[in-house]
Amino acid sequence: MKIAIYPGSFDPPTMGHLDIIRRASKITDKLIVAILYNPNKTNPMFSIKDRKKMLNLIINDLDNVEVDFFEGLLVDYAVKKQAKIIVKGLRAISDFESEFQMALTNRKLAPQVETVFMMTNDKYSFLSSSVVKEIMEFGGCIDDLVPEKVKEFIGEKAKNESLF
Ligand code: ADP
Repeated sequence: MKIAIYPGSFDPPTMGHLDIIRRASKITDKLIVAILYNPNKTNPMFSIKDRKKMLNLIINDLDNVEVDFFEGLLVDYAVKKQAKIIVKGLRAISDFESEFQMALTNRKLAPQVETVFMMTNDKYSFLSSSVVKEIMEFGGCIDDLVPEKVKEFIGEKAKNESLF
């Protein structure tokens, strides 16, 4: 069984993430979307619990995808989950350098785990969670940047609490 992990912050999940999830789920038997819990990363906008909820909302039509979170080294988590593949998305040359370094480091740590890169969908090559947060901060429209269900979730949350 080909188990793959798609790691990231997903703060919040975007259309770019969903596009990679859909495409990766077609070429693997099981895809685990794994939210990185990084206590050192300053101020995420959404808690791990909320990010997990949002991801679950957008993958519910995909039978072979599940959502989880992890702390620590990605390769340790991959080994624990018996995953042999790490999926990463590439948006631009600017992603390449750090991803290249990470992929080689991970191969050194766990040679049996292969990193696979998927090119962004050209529609989303500009899109990142930070871009979405920046637009939200200034009250702009995030339609088409995040899945509808994520937009609704954020809308509900914003009614009850201040996100900024
Ligand atoms: P960011 O905060 O930069 O949006 P994450 O850390 O949540 O991203 O990203 C998780 C993974 O998804 C990374 O491999 C990243 O390259 C990929 N990714 C993010 N946005 C896109 C996009 N628009 N197109 C393709 N891949 C993407």
